[in-house]
Parts: sequence; structure tokens; C-alpha cells
Amino acid sequence: MENPKKIACIGIDLGGTNLRAALVSRSGKILDRRVTRAAELEAESILTELAARCRDLVQSGAARGIETVAAGLGVAGKIDPSNGMVVFSPNLPVLDGYPLGRLLQKTLRLPVYMENDANVFCLGESFAGAAKGFRNWVGIVLGTGTGGCLFLNGKLWEGDRLGFSGEIGHMIVEPGGPPCPCGSNGCLEAFASARALVTGARRALRVPGIKEGPLGELERAGKLSAKTIYECAKHGDPAALELFDKMGWALGLALANLFSALGIRRAVIGGGVGGAWDLFIDSLENTLARNCSMLGPEGALIQRGRLGDDAALIGAARLGMKRKRAGEWVNG
Ligand SMILES: [Zn+2]
Repeated sequence: MENPKKIACIGIDLGGTNLRAALVSRSGKILDRRVTRAAELEAESILTELAARCRDLVQSGAARGIETVAAGLGVAGKIDPSNGMVVFSPNLPVLDGYPLGRLLQKTLRLPVYMENDANVFCLGESFAGAAKGFRNWVGIVLGTGTGGCLFLNGKLWEGDRLGFSGEIGHMIVEPGGPPCPCGSNGCLEAFASARALVTGARRALRVPGIKEGPLGELERAGKLSAKTIYECAKHGDPAALELFDKMGWALGLALANLFSALGIRRAVIGGGVGGAWDLFIDSLENTLARNCSMLGPEGALIQRGRLGDDAALIGAARLGMKRKRAGEWVNG
């Protein structure tokens, strides 16, 4: 039987720059939130900061008669959810091998559940966003890197629980292509991420003529970033537009392969770089139509994420709520 008392979960999104935490109601509404800078902190300080923000949120809820029952934690990289351990985090290397979830659970005396940040995005969009009601879909988070997740038969796909699943960003779309931070070449992430836009622009600058254009000016002024490349493209610079075309091509190819293999047709794309939607969606849809012979040209349904940065917070809280209800605990 449902507990009539008002309950909530804490959702945490631990990115390379900021640590964000929110108190989230059972229906997925954000009741209160906290943000702290995480960059340049040591692992112990991240734990201390995180615990302090979570205690704040627990108290803020208690003042309104709300009991906090669990916390969910999304971290970029490879994690071991059963042990509450960060195995490898490219954006926060100080956490490599650190049992953050387990220690946070001990400090807060609340069950804490961990997942990869793209997987919590998936849970958020599925619970309260663009993918609500979808049984089968692919999620792609375009940020500094390229996160991905699979939602199959109404559930987040966890594979063999090896610490990674739905890592669409590391599907090879061009063998021998540009290097990816994972060590491979030609991954989706090497074309469809903020980092890929900057490295792609630097590669393009080697081509005669482009160096003298707007991208060259940005590079000389030390201002080359995903955002400034986006602005160049919006002003019609062909070299910048080409980078977004390439991003759409790579995304279309990855989705064509996934849709054919899985027999599904829906994808939701979020993340900061997902905001450049109008610059890559035509190329994505054309590539998908050309390469997914199993679906008709109108068969694929590609949508934008609806929750923005809140997808990860709501999804992490949802993870906490679901696992708590299932009676799962991380090893403590
Ligand atoms: Zn890769």
C-alpha cells in the first residue's frame, strides 16, 4: 500500500564543472535545488560538498512536511552501481576508483543509488519528458562528450551490468576517423559533441582559405568554443555549418544502425549541444533515411529532449525512488 505521507528523493547530477542536486517529488516535480562548483575539488571535498547540499535539501523538505527517502546520483563515465563506485570518470578524474555513492550513503544515512549520467537523463525524459509513454527508444546527450542510453521494453537497458550500457557515443561511424578520448578512432563522439566541434574546427583550419575566415579569427583570439562555432554557423559561415552537417551525418548513421538492429524507431536528443538542433537535424534525418533500409523514409521519429538540464536531476531522483521501492541497497 502507498504511504500517505509526502515523500521525495534527492536527484544529483555530478558533472565536470558543477555539482547539482535537487529535491524531487514522487511525481517528478523539482521542489528545491542547490548548485556548487565541482571543478578543482578533491574527491573528499566533493563528498563533503555533496553531503552538505543533500542535508540542506533534506531539511528544506522536512520544513514542508516532506520525508526524503533516498538519493540517486548520476556521474559521467564508467561506474559500478552495485558498489556505489566511480570506476573511471573522464570529466572528474579525481573520482576514479572512489566509492562516492557508498560513502555518501554512509554519511547521509540514506540509500544512495548510482548510474551513468546519460542513463539518468534517459530515466528523466522517460518519466516526465519527451519520452513519456515510449516503450522503446534511444537517448543521446550531446554535451562535452556524447552520452547515450537505451530504453527497451519500458526499462532502462543495463546490459550485463558491466558498468556501461547504451554507450552510443563510442559506436564507430568512420573507421580510422578522428581520435576519440576513449582511445578509439571515428566514434560518434568524435563528430557529435562540444569537444568534436572544437577539434573539427581546428582540423578545418588547416585547409587553405578557412584560416582567413571567422573560425580562424576565433582561434587567433583564443575564443574558439562550441558556442562561438555555433554562432558562426548561425551567421552562415560554410566551414562552421559543415561541422554541424557532419554531426548530423554521424548521428544519422549511428541511429540507422541502432534502429535496424533493434527494430525500433524513436530517439530523443538532449544536452547543451542538442540546442543546435536546427543546424544538424536535416543532415541527421537525411542520413537516417538513406541508411536505414528497414524503415520507410517517414518511419523514424526523432525528438528533442524536453527537460533540459533538469532531465538528469529528475531521472536521478526517479532512480532513487524506484530502487528504494524495489528494496535494493548498494553494498555498504
Ligand atoms: Zn570513443
